[in-house]
Order: sequence, then C-alpha cells, then structure tokens
Amino acid sequence: MAVSRNGLASVCNTLPPMKSGDSKGRLWMPEGRKLPVIECFGPTIQGEGLMAGQKTHFLRLGGCGYRCSWCDTLYAVLPEQVKANRTMMTPEEIVRQLGALPPAKWVTLTGGDPAMHDLSELASALTEGGFKICIETQGQFWKTWMSRLNVVTVSPKPPSSGMADKTDFSVLNRYGFAQELCVKIVVFDDDDYEWGNLVFRRFMATGMKNVSYYMTPGTSQGSNEQIQHRVELRLKWLFEKAARDPDFDDRIKIIPQLHVLAWGDRKGV
Ligand code: SF4
Repeated sequence: MAVSRNGLASVCNTLPPMKSGDSKGRLWMPEGRKLPVIECFGPTIQGEGLMAGQKTHFLRLGGCGYRCSWCDTLYAVLPEQVKANRTMMTPEEIVRQLGALPPAKWVTLTGGDPAMHDLSELASALTEGGFKICIETQGQFWKTWMSRLNVVTVSPKPPSSGMADKTDFSVLNRYGFAQELCVKIVVFDDDDYEWGNLVFRRFMATGMKNVSYYMTPGTSQGSNEQIQHRVELRLKWLFEKAARDPDFDDRIKIIPQLHVLAWGDRKGV
C-alpha cells in the first residue's frame, strides 16, 4: 500500500477493522491449562526493540492469525507444523523448565503470536517464579493480562507482509494499558517506511505514556552470509532515508536485528 504523508490521518482512519477472534486461531487454543510450546531456550541476548542487548530466556508458543509473506517462524505458525513441533505444557511445567536453564531474569514470550492464548496463569506463575516478562505480538489482540507484564512489544505488520490491512487501531489503542510499550515496525521498502511512520504518528497522537518507537530493517531469506549482507545494505538505506527525511520524528530509533547480525537465521539462540 503506497501512501502519501499528506494522507496520513485519512489512511489510518480507513484501515479496515481486523477480524479479531479468527476461528483458525482456535486450532491452537490451549488444551485445558496447557500451552503449545514450540521452543524454550536461553539465556540469549534479545536482538531488537526496547529490549535489544538484554539477556533473556525465550518461550515460543505456536499459532498466529497472520501469514506474513516473509515470516521466518512458520514452524510456529502453520497448523500442521505447530502440531508436529509443539509440546503441550502447563504454566507450572513451563516455569520449571525455564528454572532448569542457566539463570536469566527476563523471559520473552514470542511466537507465532503468544497473545492469541490466555496467558494469565502463565504470567502469574512466571512472576511468582521471580521472572520479569516481555511479550512480542503483532497487535491482533489486546488481553487484560498483558497489562501485568513488564514490557509489551507490538509490531504491526507493514504492506510488504501482505497483512497491513489487518491492522485495527481500535485494538492498538488499548495497548496504552501496557506498563511499558515498544512499538516496532519492520521495514523492507519505501511503502513500509511510509506506513510505519503513519502508525507511529497514530500512536503518538494518542498521548500514551511509556512508549518507545523502533524501525528495524527487514530480514530476507537466504544463507547466513546473504541474510547478514542484505540486512547491512537495508540498514544503510534506512539510515540514509531517515537522516534525509525532515519529517522523521526524533522519537523513533532505527536499529537492526542484532541477533541476525550475530547468528543469521539460526534457531534457538
Ligand atoms: S505475525 Fe509474526 S509470527 Fe505471525 S505470520 Fe507474521 S511474522 Fe510470522
């Protein structure tokens, strides 16, 4: 979707409502209190957004209502792969598994889209276990238990994903209930850049507190060397584009996915 900056408000206002409660999501709803765990690993270093550079464990849950064209975690998205890869675990089992890893204070809940599940019990169990919690979501849902988490990172998906028309600002407005909010937009091209700025301005206009804004150059598929080279080129392009743009808001920071520069697309790091 190409948009001009002059049409910011009108474009945001006309974005069609997302179909929340996607019935496909029910494929991965918990069996009883159990959650579909795809990966549980750490400690490692968070590579992006507000938490970049932070030592953390990662808990990856299966299922997502989106199908982004460049998704790099389809093994945690596609129903057949989720069923093949998941281990159904209770919140207590998850906390025990995390506790058996070398120590880290933070747990990052990721996916897929972890927000499609009811994680209220898991949030309580993790907090009682002494962990601080960050969640990464694309913004399809806001759940009341998310306001109990230490950091919420929401990453609405830009035009290059093919999912931008699912963005629903009536849902995103509720992210103002987060204790600490990070809004992150992945950028592959000019349209993504324009769209990302629209989204940032929309958030800024709400007057939400404790919000930080990040743009991240997108990561393409390929060998590790190709991936890292493309990230470097896209980062240079994005740096130069934003630096030349007099309307680029200085509350927005641009950082690459540091874990991609370090490890390429390796899983479990
Ligand atoms: S929202 Fe994230 S996990 Fe879901 S399809 Fe898009 S990139 Fe993949």
